[in-house]
Amino acid sequence: MNKFTYADVNSAEAAINELTFDNGTKLIAGGTNLLDLMKINVETPSRLVDINRLPYNKIEQLHDGGLRLGALVTNADTAYNPMVRSNYPLLSDAILAGASPQLRNMATNGGNLLQRTRCYYFYDTATPCNKRDPGSGCSAINGINRIHAILGHSDHCIATHPSDMAVALAALEAVVNVTGTSGDRRIEFEDLHRLPGDEPEKDTNLLSGDLITSIDLPAEGFAGNYKYLKVRDRASYAFALVSVAVGLKIDGGIIRQARIALGGVAHKPWRNNEAEGQLTGKPATKQNFQQTAMMILEGARGFEHNLFKVELARRAIVRALTEAIGKEQMQ
Ligand code: SF4
Repeated sequence: MNKFTYADVNSAEAAINELTFDNGTKLIAGGTNLLDLMKINVETPSRLVDINRLPYNKIEQLHDGGLRLGALVTNADTAYNPMVRSNYPLLSDAILAGASPQLRNMATNGGNLLQRTRCYYFYDTATPCNKRDPGSGCSAINGINRIHAILGHSDHCIATHPSDMAVALAALEAVVNVTGTSGDRRIEFEDLHRLPGDEPEKDTNLLSGDLITSIDLPAEGFAGNYKYLKVRDRASYAFALVSVAVGLKIDGGIIRQARIALGGVAHKPWRNNEAEGQLTGKPATKQNFQQTAMMILEGARGFEHNLFKVELARRAIVRALTEAIGKEQMQ
């Protein structure tokens, strides 16, 4: 591990100043991903700035009926919060599907969104990786690519985003509150993470000096009909091969609103607004769900070891929609 200095701060301004003063500075909160990356020299910060004393550790109700999740609230406290459990069970289930209890007790909401890919080569400094070392090449494209992307990948990177929480937040259309050198701003969840393109080293659209302060959940939590389905190699402490977050509004067996986000398949949580829209106004039938799944996966392209993910994702979407509806509403 490289040498670094350490400081803690008690204001956002101080944290932003630290970030802008030295681009080798990294913020640390739970540290559940950053410390792993530092131990293997994938991250080599010159300075660590501890933000755990900043006032972003609350979950608060918003005037519009929504909920604000502080960036420093742990994943465990978020998942078990009574308001999250009752109004946003999709989010609670997604968080509890991720990592282990010990990690969820440490990991923060802001950190969860900023965790790095679990591509094997990203963690192996002996191999080329455009995300870790821009311009060096992508070892996964012609290497072992079982866990990699089938949608939205580029010739430069085929990594996936590993977060379960982010998939539910994409389906819920959360908004991320950020403060930075030019003040506060709000980022639609859809716009937080990015596809790799020719700059896979950039996971998000955050700017240098940006600090996530909270995540706003809209009033509609789809608590009546929802499902977080995670398909993985073992029952716990494994990242998703494919995951699906579904939130539905149904009336008399007819879909009135549909939100479907996929995890484990792309560099960011994957949504297809056209596919969701075409399901609206239709009866909840297996045939309609299959058609929606086909639309979501239009253009999906796998690699040598992950071709199975296309069919797996198709089936997972249909199953998640079916389970979100409940047997009594199926037509
Ligand atoms: Fe690196 Fe992305 Fe290629 Fe993995 S898929 S080796 S993260 S460039």
